[in-house]
Amino acid sequence: MAYAGSAFQNAGGGFPLIPYGRQTIEEDDLQAVLSALRSDWLTQGPKVQELEEALARYCGARYAVVFSSGTAALQAACFAAGLGSGDEVITSPITFVATTNAVLWFGARPIFADIQPETGNIDPEQIESRISPKTKAILPVDYAGHPADLQVIREIARKRNLLVIEDACHALGATYQNHKIGSLSDVTVFSFHPVKSITTGEGGAVLTQNKSFYERLTRFRHHGIQKGNDWEYDVLDLGLNYRLTDIQCALGLSQLRKLDRFIATRQRIAERYTQAFQEWGEIAPVLPSPDSRSAWHLYVIRLQGGLAQKRREVFRSLRQRKIGVQVHYIPVYQHPYYQAQGYSPELCPQAEDFYSRIISLPIYPTLTASQQDEVIQALGATLDSIYESSPAR
Ligand SMILES: *Cc1c(COP(=O)(O)O)cnc(C)c1O
Repeated sequence: MAYAGSAFQNAGGGFPLIPYGRQTIEEDDLQAVLSALRSDWLTQGPKVQELEEALARYCGARYAVVFSSGTAALQAACFAAGLGSGDEVITSPITFVATTNAVLWFGARPIFADIQPETGNIDPEQIESRISPKTKAILPVDYAGHPADLQVIREIARKRNLLVIEDACHALGATYQNHKIGSLSDVTVFSFHPVKSITTGEGGAVLTQNKSFYERLTRFRHHGIQKGNDWEYDVLDLGLNYRLTDIQCALGLSQLRKLDRFIATRQRIAERYTQAFQEWGEIAPVLPSPDSRSAWHLYVIRLQGGLAQKRREVFRSLRQRKIGVQVHYIPVYQHPYYQAQGYSPELCPQAEDFYSRIISLPIYPTLTASQQDEVIQALGATLDSIYESSPAR
């Protein structure tokens, strides 16, 4: 798992390590959780709807439905979209495997389209040629918090009568052409895992403008149940228990109030990295497209030219220097389970080249300027030791 936890574990016991991402929990977050614990409702209470309304308002969407994880939210989104056996969904290979696992759970098949190396996002030009009579949806991922090319993707979807399921697990708080992520796709999925924009421990949400999707999402979360009179209820769908507790929703509400501040801090950290690396010919950052504002979930650098062959050395040297770097992501179709589904290991040359070059550097709201300097120095020293004759820095 490419999460903060694993970054800690791989440190070989050597603390402190600066992780690639981590939560920001403040005193008022603690108080919010305590009052939820002292209230009458630990789950299925008023905090759930409060968080859903706040999320919908923040994103400019009509409906929000919260779930026990981003993974559960993705599954619910696929359910709401009506994915089933024989359907195809066009998506990006540079994502966390939860994205495409959700598609497979409904018996549908992920069809991988190649990426744009500048942003790490699905290349809209690669989408059209992969549309078949079986295609039901396009599933873009806002990689690193950088919004995908949603205008073009929506246009393709509209023309071909497809749904857009947006995996925005990295992108809560991001904007695309002045629209908040969460307001643009048929269904948009967020995660509240500790490394994401805001956290509820585990948690997630789906946003939509569509009432019938909203109803399917809420039913799916709660056993497919629709409440009736008195004790009566009808089971209309094959649902599950994917609820988020009131304890978590209280934390989510408290976190959501800080979201803009968190994103502004991430943005400042990203700008400081980009500034520092401006003259470094050996690396190029992955940047958002100019018509969007990223949520900066990840700060990803690409090793240029032949330096890609030294990626493992760079990675290990940074880990040795207590920098909790990570790699996001191995192209999904290269994993053994996906290979067993018959995907070629060489499906998307851009994604494979991208994967061979990338390293995620630490970025999170409480990363201090001096910690960031440590990261920059460690990277500089690493490149010096690997690449004696590198250009001036
Ligand atoms: C985090 C993440 C998920 C899954 O979210 P969880 O809350 O960890 O279940 C799905 N897709 C992407 C792209 C993610 O980064």
